[in-house]
Amino acid sequence: METGQIRMCPTHGYFRGEKCQCNQVGRHILDERRTTQLGKMVSGALRHFPEKLHLEMDKQGWVDVESLITALEDRYRWFYREYLFALIESDVKGRYEIKEGKIRARYAHSVNVDLDFPSNELPELYYGTTEEEADRVLEVGLKSVNQRYLHLSTSFDEAIRVAKYRTEQPIVIIVNAKQAQENGIKIMSVSDQICLSENIPPTFLEIIS
Ligand SMILES: [Zn+2]
Repeated sequence: METGQIRMCPTHGYFRGEKCQCNQVGRHILDERRTTQLGKMVSGALRHFPEKLHLEMDKQGWVDVESLITALEDRYRWFYREYLFALIESDVKGRYEIKEGKIRARYAHSVNVDLDFPSNELPELYYGTTEEEADRVLEVGLKSVNQRYLHLSTSFDEAIRVAKYRTEQPIVIIVNAKQAQENGIKIMSVSDQICLSENIPPTFLEIIS
């Protein structure tokens, strides 16, 4: 999760940290502590526990923006609606999207959603893992364990970065996405860095280390 305060650059809009990419300091919007607090609540609501905030989520993961704002106003006395938009627009990972008065998380759900992102034609994808898991994956394929979808990285470096949370010496598995898709495996492109799938059979996997 990015940390840091949210500020607003007159040229580039909301950003995280002390200075915009253009070096302007801009205007203060939300301090670091509240940014973290709000970020955790919004990601929790949209990925894991919409019912805790009495939100109705549809099958594709969408929630009414105004209902979310009301729920956040009820929960935090310091909250203003601008903060929600500031949080989302300054999120460099594109965790959320807003469309036609609705908002959803783009990935990392544990709630049972059926996301409907396009299945673009994709190159290879990458999955970073531990040595023990890699052996098993080559036998049984890749499956999501605690989350609704399996997360694949679009770059080798990103796969390494993610896996480093779990192991000092990650093993990277290449997913032959094109071949998998030609054989009917659904892979969705949700951001520049992340694709989602339900499972990838071993035939389409290969280890590089
Ligand atoms: Zn700027």
